[in-house]
Amino acid sequence: MRMRLAILISICVVIVALSVVSFLTYENWRTHRYDHLIMEAAVDHQLPPGLLKAIMDARGHFNYYTMGEKGEVGLLQVPQEGVAEYKKAKLSPDYEFGYVCINKAHPPHTGIKQNIRGPCNICKSRLIPEMWYPRQNVEVGAWYLAKLKADIEGADGSGKRNLEDAIPLMVAAYCLTDKNVRAATDNFRNPVLPPGLRNSIRDILEKYERYRQRL
Ligand SMILES: [Zn+2]
Repeated sequence: MRMRLAILISICVVIVALSVVSFLTYENWRTHRYDHLIMEAAVDHQLPPGLLKAIMDARGHFNYYTMGEKGEVGLLQVPQEGVAEYKKAKLSPDYEFGYVCINKAHPPHTGIKQNIRGPCNICKSRLIPEMWYPRQNVEVGAWYLAKLKADIEGADGSGKRNLEDAIPLMVAAYCLTDKNVRAATDNFRNPVLPPGLRNSIRDILEKYERYRQRL
């Protein structure tokens, strides 16, 4: 009887241990799987990678299919005004984002774009809107953050604003609209955010403090 109990307990311990290990492995994969995209975009747009990761964690929760209340889209929860600015500056104002396949099938064809929704022409799996496609989403979000950074750095005329001072303004303009933050900070000239605005982005700033040390 005691022998059986011992076996039962051992089995339980093994099950718990395996669950913990698989959970940790999964968490590690989940929170690091987009690091390569973050690093590429950070280099291309001269942004701190920790800032991109903080937004991805706090707002996108590492889910590429996340949609925000005001239409913020994807991993970086890119605001609709950011999408519009990107189209205007980099593509054309009437550019239509299409649909892409994210199936890692053979032959590899991730990123191939179709203009209409529906199954992938190659593998027949379901397509996702192009703005959700992680590489495209991170590119657009990072581009918009860099644009805001340039606007903020140029706002006081010296063009020499410290990046760490500019970051709360960048994040606020990104998440709470450029217009609102300009109105609250004298067109970005005042580096101090009103407490209400700062509170709304506290989750991102806290995560940034952590990710700036290590992704
Ligand atoms: Zn496909």
